[in-house]
Amino acid sequence: MQIKDLLSTGKNGRLMFSGIDTVELAGEYGTPLYVMDEEAIRQNMREYKRALEECYGKSSMVCYASKAFACKEIYRIAMDEGIGADVVSAGELLTAVSVDFPADKIVFHGNNKSDDELLLALNCGVGLIAVDNIEEIRTLDKLAKRLDKKAKISLRIKPGVTAHTHEFIRTGAIDSKFGFALETGEAMEAVLLAANCESLALTGFNCHIGSQIFDAEPFAAAAEVMLEFIAKVQKQTGAPIESLNLGGGFAIRYTDGDREVNYREYSLKIAKITKQKCEELGIPVPFMMIEPGRSIVGNAGITLYKVGAVKNIPGHRKYVLIDGGFTDNPRYSLYGAKYDIIAADKAAADMNETITLAGKCCESGDLIGENMPAPSLEPGGIVAVLATGAYNYSMASNYNRLPKPAVVMLKGGKSRIVVKRETLNDLLRNDI
Ligand SMILES: *Cc1c(COP(=O)(O)O)cnc(C)c1O
Repeated sequence: MQIKDLLSTGKNGRLMFSGIDTVELAGEYGTPLYVMDEEAIRQNMREYKRALEECYGKSSMVCYASKAFACKEIYRIAMDEGIGADVVSAGELLTAVSVDFPADKIVFHGNNKSDDELLLALNCGVGLIAVDNIEEIRTLDKLAKRLDKKAKISLRIKPGVTAHTHEFIRTGAIDSKFGFALETGEAMEAVLLAANCESLALTGFNCHIGSQIFDAEPFAAAAEVMLEFIAKVQKQTGAPIESLNLGGGFAIRYTDGDREVNYREYSLKIAKITKQKCEELGIPVPFMMIEPGRSIVGNAGITLYKVGAVKNIPGHRKYVLIDGGFTDNPRYSLYGAKYDIIAADKAAADMNETITLAGKCCESGDLIGENMPAPSLEPGGIVAVLATGAYNYSMASNYNRLPKPAVVMLKGGKSRIVVKRETLNDLLRNDI
């Protein structure tokens, strides 16, 4: 599912998202506004689930990496689609279990989980805790013993493969704050320590090699390294390693310049190498897991803003000032991320201008994009920024004491609020 598949131009020339008039949405719910399409999210989840089952049968699980977009409704949808979920904090875990998400389908990640977070994970009965460091192995063993539980864990490994967008590096990836390094022997040390902990059951390994990755090769390379490690661990320790989790990071098409990604083909390529490698090593194919976040929700969402003013600085640039900014979408200021925009009130207008889309915060770096192709935009108009479903709402802040926007979900030609807009009173709630 691509963002462009959800967009059309209505009879009045307005931008329709999933068949609904975006100018009317902005009028009804206010701006800035996150708008997401439920069917697109479900289709993305199904596409991954089907692909994994095609590759590995039932011995597989797709976990939605909920940091991409976390709220009660997304856990309800993931639960309804029968997939698992990744969480990385007590907040995400509590949100999931508050809507009765099955705890045994939750993987708890994080490189510095607090004791309270680990206790919550144990008490909720999460399916797997992805342990990140030696300290955590010791702490979790102690806490599990205290509760008279046996914690099922996997260890986060640095496979020595890191990837970003179109490049990947096979070696030298030990400089990361996440997980255990293979090269230094740290990973094997962790295995031996965990295997000796009475209250831990080491059942698998996990890795995550990067984000917005367009090619299958880096995943296949990581899978090979991880499988070699599994074979080595089984030989040296006899530990019953059942699962291999290859993480997330599958790319989406943000702008027209990005190519489309076919997640089924992607999965088939990785599965082929995985199976070949298992045969070569003489080990059974593990229970395979992946954790897509961005590619489940990213292309299912847009953000609507109202233009407040336009500043044309001759010889320099044209700023279009909107009523949100890096408080609701920090991705340009964080990583120079690129977006396409459309004028919601004249969706088919020529893109004959080049603009800088700037927010309302007191920071010059508060931009959604620079050198963006745009139609002429005027004060009062509505602008849609495309493919904002991932890492926008979940990364939103209250800088300058701006309330976070509402999230509206579309389905079957109807819209509903799934996250209310913060009020000014919400901003005062915790102040003494
Ligand atoms: C961020 C993350 C993911 C999801 O990454 P996407 O790029 O959103 O698919 C999955 N697993 C882990 C461990 C992560 O840190």
